[in-house]
Amino acid sequence: MAKGGSLAAKVYFTEASIDEGEQVLSEKARRLFLAGKFGKCFQKGDFTAVKVHVGEEGNTTYIKAPCLKGLVEELQKLKTKPFITDTSTLYTGRRHNAIDHTILATDRGFGVLGLGIPFLAPDGLFGTAETPVRIDGELEKEVSIAADIVRCQSILSVAHFTGHCATCAGATLKTLGMGCASRKGKMRQHSALKPKIKKGKCARCGVCESHCPTGAITRDKLQAHIDQDKCIGCAECVAMCRFDAVEYDWKQESEILQKSVAEHALGVLRGKEGRAVFFNFLVSMTRDCDCFDQAHMPTMVPDIGIVASTDPVAVDRAAIEMVETRGGQKLATLIGNARLDWRFQIEHAVRIGLGRAEYECIEVS
Ligand code: SF4
Ligand code: SF4
Repeated sequence: MAKGGSLAAKVYFTEASIDEGEQVLSEKARRLFLAGKFGKCFQKGDFTAVKVHVGEEGNTTYIKAPCLKGLVEELQKLKTKPFITDTSTLYTGRRHNAIDHTILATDRGFGVLGLGIPFLAPDGLFGTAETPVRIDGELEKEVSIAADIVRCQSILSVAHFTGHCATCAGATLKTLGMGCASRKGKMRQHSALKPKIKKGKCARCGVCESHCPTGAITRDKLQAHIDQDKCIGCAECVAMCRFDAVEYDWKQESEILQKSVAEHALGVLRGKEGRAVFFNFLVSMTRDCDCFDQAHMPTMVPDIGIVASTDPVAVDRAAIEMVETRGGQKLATLIGNARLDWRFQIEHAVRIGLGRAEYECIEVS
């Protein structure tokens, strides 16, 4: 486990399991918030984005709304104006536009009736309300971020730790970089991916075709085909194919995607230095992310707990190392694709000044 001296970021940790129930998880998250003295990041009157993933329709392993209750109450005590938020997806599902997304979120308790605060889409009805943010990245000098994420004064990010078919780890960096980008920002990040169908592997099941948001996939008598001019690199086909028939350049393309995610996260936090806190819930950890519309997906490791920090890089590194320790294998192996490597996003995030890789883990009982 990475440990550092005076330059190490503080990462607060408490053991937790989904079996303890939502109320206990809520109180444990609150305890971390208080132990870390995270209240100092929020000021009276702040419009505070509570960034979550409400889970695609059909998904049952996302972090449930009642688990956020304690955190929301702490923000209310500080007299901020918190709102639950998430952006529209590129793929066509129940989170593709603000209307369907808001109804799904509200049905699942992420709204006034469940948490006492509204669910608001920060990128407008169609995911196009955005603000360009200047950054000094290696890939990007300007990134497209959801307009109300840029306008709000502070952020409390609550990520569910999962594996991911293209970025290896899905946690805080991905929640910020991809999850707070506008539609254009998401397309920019995904543009590195150019999937192809492997000869002789395709079973012609049509699942990828039905999930492709741009109609880039067709099938002939032998196999599926991808029209590269229509493909936006969203990776839905990679994630959905259960025949290992969709491939891309796992090293080079995943590396660029992960770096772009980190640079968009940098844009999200620009101007919010010291005004953001990051939680990773390490429970119900599936090898695929909560965008999957499947119920009761198998978990890759037993539940571990919750980690929280004011450093978005350290909180992810700590989470990944805890998962690998618990699973006894590299994360890429745990999610079933040993070619992936999460280090690209962590190392790049450190290089561009997003946070620190060295951390000190402080256990909270
Ligand atoms: S999901 Fe996979 S097996 Fe099914 S049609 Fe697409 S590439 Fe072929
Ligand atoms: S072909 Fe695959 S990566 Fe390209 S847009 Fe369709 S689902 Fe997304």
